[in-house]
Amino acid sequence: MSGTTLDLAREAVRAIARYAPDAGPQCTVDVSDNTNLWGMPPAALRALQASPNVAGARYPALYGTELKEAVARYVGHGVAAEQVVAGCGSDDVLDAAMRAFGEPGSRIAYMVPTFSMIPVFGRLNGMVPVEIPYDPSSWDLAAERLLEARAAITYLCAPNNPTATGVSRAALEQVVRGAEGIVVVDEAYAEFTDTTAVDLVASHERLLVTRTLSKAFGLAGLRVGYGVASPTLAGLVERAIGPYKVNAIAERCALATLAPGADGLDWVRAHAALAVETRGRLAARLQELGLAPLPSTANFVLVPHPRAVAIGAALRDRGILVRAFGSLAVCGPALRIGVGPWEQMTTLCDALAEVLATIESEGSSR
Ligand SMILES: *Cc1c(COP(=O)(O)O)cnc(C)c1O
Repeated sequence: MSGTTLDLAREAVRAIARYAPDAGPQCTVDVSDNTNLWGMPPAALRALQASPNVAGARYPALYGTELKEAVARYVGHGVAAEQVVAGCGSDDVLDAAMRAFGEPGSRIAYMVPTFSMIPVFGRLNGMVPVEIPYDPSSWDLAAERLLEARAAITYLCAPNNPTATGVSRAALEQVVRGAEGIVVVDEAYAEFTDTTAVDLVASHERLLVTRTLSKAFGLAGLRVGYGVASPTLAGLVERAIGPYKVNAIAERCALATLAPGADGLDWVRAHAALAVETRGRLAARLQELGLAPLPSTANFVLVPHPRAVAIGAALRDRGILVRAFGSLAVCGPALRIGVGPWEQMTTLCDALAEVLATIESEGSSR
């Protein structure tokens, strides 16, 4: 035998660290991951509790046929079930799209900062990331520069994680029309805004719109995501994704949530509306504290602050977990705060006020 086991691994795998955001099992308020802080929809909880023995003992549907039908009805715009691909979270769909369309050595282009898994999945799939910084005066797509990259995959995130900002329809259409390769529009936060690219799928065979049941739908622990595209593109991503990716219990809960009714889809829509209303109240409180959150179109806000990491650590000491970034592209250090029930928001803001006062007094005594 020669070399270590580590040496046997693919270079892309050796180069990538495990995903390790700050954990906080002891935290009473965890607003760090943009999930639904009101919890699971009641219809999903009932489906979970009522799942029969066979749902665990037998394999699920090969490619989630029933789920795809329900998703097609939900997204509207004339989308048919054959245009939907379902996965183990939308992460799975994004990863499979790269496997399907990203020949090793080809480019994936995207604006930064964006969803942290994109460069990770890109590199793991042998792709070369091309990162284009956002212009912070507009937070819109630099459409020309994205097109100039002539990438196999152009990834757009709207609303964008972690900035929460939206993109203009004009720039989005320019990229979708002009791109040589496929365009992926990640709409993980679609339910918190009134714009979508799903209507463009009918006229653009190379467009994939991904969405998830992890955010507004409150099912992050069950791992269900999907993509919407032309039948050809969806079929290719489905080949790359492979069978049995949505487990049987998750599919049952997803179907219950996507069903019309007070405990399913209506619950999701009502809580998304509540999140939108609460994000306005939260942004106002943060501004009163002298902070400058970016304009949000999602269920979280990003607050650039030079001492973001220290603030995040001090909040964690007080049992509150936010996502603290040390150095985001364009934004620098920043805190990402998920929007949830107002009492959690006031607990957070009260603690933040104390922490800011301490940090400012430290700063002035130096
Ligand atoms: C949370 C998130 C996802 C991943 O969601 P899963 O469906 O849970 O894998 C994808 N894209 C963005 C931008 C996200 O913020």
